[in-house]
Amino acid sequence: MSPKPWYEKGLRFECTGCGNCCRNHGEYAYVYLSDREVAAIAAHLNLERRIFRERYCVIDDGWTVLRMDQPACPFLTAENRCGIYPVRPKQCATWPFWKENLVESEWNGPVKACCPGIDKGPLYSADEIERWARETDAEVE
Ligand code: SF4
Ligand code: SF4
Repeated sequence: MSPKPWYEKGLRFECTGCGNCCRNHGEYAYVYLSDREVAAIAAHLNLERRIFRERYCVIDDGWTVLRMDQPACPFLTAENRCGIYPVRPKQCATWPFWKENLVESEWNGPVKACCPGIDKGPLYSADEIERWARETDAEVE
């Protein structure tokens, strides 16, 4: 039996809508896109996939990544909203419950520093949290 995780009693999270996670944060400036997500976002924007990739993506080590070389994601609106919310990438929908964030020092360190919604609001169970982390990895793997 594997040891219980440090978040076995769950974690609290509630988005304040500050938009920080959609801004360039160095190591957090990576939103990976699966082919399925590229197709969905391109269709939502009424763009050919090739044009969408040229305009909004970079290739990093073989992965397709949203451009974050400007101060923020190109789809972050002036009101701190996601301009492609109905088709936003899985990684955006499951933040902050990513596998790499579920290390106690990460959660209480850089993740909490970036996101004012950490440790606020409703409690999510360890099972829910791990399901989101798995879904996030499964989307682009
Ligand atoms: S940083 Fe956290 S609180 Fe701010 S928009 Fe992102 S998820 Fe919401
Ligand atoms: S796609 Fe939407 S949710 Fe994801 S980083 Fe860009 S603005 Fe934020």
